[in-house]
Amino acid sequence: MKVGYSYKRYPIHDSYDTIVIGSGIGGLSTAAIMAKEGYKVLVLERHYEAGGYTHVFKRQGYEWDIGVHYIGQVHQPFTTGSRLFRYLTEDRLKWASMGDVYDRIIINGEEYQFKSGEEAFRQQMKAYFPGEEDAIDRYLWHIQHVRKANGKYQVQKVLPSFLRMILSGWMSKDYMKYARQSTRQFLESLTNNQKLIAVLTGQYGDYGLPPSASSFMMQAIVAGHYLQGGAYPVGGASQIAKSIAPVIEEQGGQIYINAEVDQILVKGKKATGVQMKDGIPEVS
Ligand SMILES: Cc1cc2nc3c(=O)[nH]c(=O)nc-3n(C[C@H](O)[C@H](O)[C@H](O)COP(=O)(O)OP(=O)(O)OC[C@H]3O[C@@H](n4cnc5c(N)ncnc54)[C@H](O)[C@@H]3O)c2cc1C
Repeated sequence: MKVGYSYKRYPIHDSYDTIVIGSGIGGLSTAAIMAKEGYKVLVLERHYEAGGYTHVFKRQGYEWDIGVHYIGQVHQPFTTGSRLFRYLTEDRLKWASMGDVYDRIIINGEEYQFKSGEEAFRQQMKAYFPGEEDAIDRYLWHIQHVRKANGKYQVQKVLPSFLRMILSGWMSKDYMKYARQSTRQFLESLTNNQKLIAVLTGQYGDYGLPPSASSFMMQAIVAGHYLQGGAYPVGGASQIAKSIAPVIEEQGGQIYINAEVDQILVKGKKATGVQMKDGIPEVS
């Protein structure tokens, strides 16, 4: 069943506590959290499908993902990711592990498998690259260190301002040290083996920039995120939006598709509604 009503067919007459623009995972998560706090939320999505980069399309009987194809940690019961999805979907969404191998890097016809679990990954890489054991150990040590540094960095961002003023320099120091180096620069400080660097950074498509242009922080966060393997939503990526939508609707909220917002209307310092792109009077 499709998520959301079409704004072209069903004009909005109701009023809402909050309007969320965009039904990607960010918008839907925000809307669901607010709904669970008792707010009546309206989600406006300009596309004809809800879900943003989690939506799918069909061609010749096959379903195609347009974005999300694997997520880390959600298949392990006690991680933040799995807890968050259980909370957002009220346990409606199930995950299927991708098994022992979650990525395959192919260079000139040679395949390098990324095995689930840090130790399995370490041993597999050492088997592919004899003589590089020390570089591989150090790489994995830094991945774990970056994850801790990132945790501290994110926490300082939400501290009350007086604490932030005192603590942010110290809490951001390690993060900035890694973030200011490119992935290539950092890895070349561990090894000269260009093939090993190519394999370790083979997931760069997940964050979009090649090793010479990306921050090592991003490489480390993504590589660390998947070290325990990947999972796929049972029933396909569209299940993400389908399993969050009822949580929003249970509090009287709605998701509208074909509903492009042109402007946020502000009175004084308060957002009071939105002006739709097609000129149909504002939604408030
Ligand atoms: C090809 C690809 C593959 C990916 N693979 C993975 C993966 O395997 N695993 C993973 O974890 N991540 C993956 N990602 C990243 C992940 O999909 C995105 O980071 C995430 O889905 C972004 O969610 P979002 O809510 O921030 O934005 P979006 O999904 O972009 O949602 C924003 C929504 O807002 C709507 N919108 C914008 N402006 C307006 C407006 N004015 N009025 C109304 N609606 C509006 C848009 O139409 C859109 O639906 C992938 C991304 C891409 C592009």
